[in-house]
Amino acid sequence: MHSVNYFSLGLLPTIQPINSAIAQQAGVELSVLRLDCMHPWVNGNKWFKLKYNLQEAKQRNLTTLLTFGGAYSNHIFATAAAGNLFGFRTIGMIRGEETLPLNPTLSFAVQQGMQLFYVNRDKYRERQTTALQAELQQRFGEVLIIPEGGSNLNGVRGCMEIVNTREFDTVCLACGTGTTLAGIILSLHKSQRAIGFPVLKNGRFLAPEIDNWLRNYLASGLPVADEAIASWELICDYHMGGYAKVNDELLQFSQQFTQEHDIPLDYVYTAKMFYGVMDLLKQGFFPRGDRLLLIHTGGLQGNIGMEKRLNWH
Ligand SMILES: *Cc1c(COP(=O)(O)O)cnc(C)c1O
Repeated sequence: MHSVNYFSLGLLPTIQPINSAIAQQAGVELSVLRLDCMHPWVNGNKWFKLKYNLQEAKQRNLTTLLTFGGAYSNHIFATAAAGNLFGFRTIGMIRGEETLPLNPTLSFAVQQGMQLFYVNRDKYRERQTTALQAELQQRFGEVLIIPEGGSNLNGVRGCMEIVNTREFDTVCLACGTGTTLAGIILSLHKSQRAIGFPVLKNGRFLAPEIDNWLRNYLASGLPVADEAIASWELICDYHMGGYAKVNDELLQFSQQFTQEHDIPLDYVYTAKMFYGVMDLLKQGFFPRGDRLLLIHTGGLQGNIGMEKRLNWH
């Protein structure tokens, strides 16, 4: 194992102001926090969710990370790469059946040294039960089991390091489980506001889950800054049909946005949030003078698989 004392990529995400006529008309300043370009493979919010999980593994002298994900998972991709970079053995429990040849996400994971096992959907649903976790510990020896998406309190804690500036009034990001949003809410000043854009249908169900993350984090005794905890809300109208669903409008928007601002977007998460923000700007949703920070949470690795499914290659 390499000796790494502190899990850092040594790179800070940049904040990129963007020039947009729509924002100008709305009297709003737009900037993008580029978590997508911190490291070629270990980047995005998934890196922040992993950081304290790696630290826990190190502290407990565990040399293997075991985690769960779908076949296109950004979290599987990041765990495989981070494990390789920081000297952990990695095991990926993949939902569903093996399909060969492996898709780009899974073949990358294997190249990084991840061992893959396939779990049928019924069994996959039990992934958080103590019974299945005990079975995995018995099968693989002492391993650190990280939940799907890196969503645990270590993950929330890492996401509290994503935004460390008060120069913005409103922070926007795409939500899957809402864990990242919980970390952002906990770390922002109480005068700031966070807006989550669920990428799943009927995203309202996330509100009580985010409340739970906040409550559990605050009850855990982990650190919180003075005067922290932002107000927050969810905007659930931009899922475009549901998780990993896309339509022509979204694809067109994404291509045009990339051309105009030289910022690539992923179709599953960030494109939907950026689309939503641009649409809300046109409607005058944000107060004039608002300084907006849009978090680019990464996920670009998934575009290769998505474009293949859309038959672009
Ligand atoms: C996983 C992911 C999200 C969602 O994060 P949650 O903490 O589950 O809400 C957003 N954007 C990208 C690119 C992701 O990979």
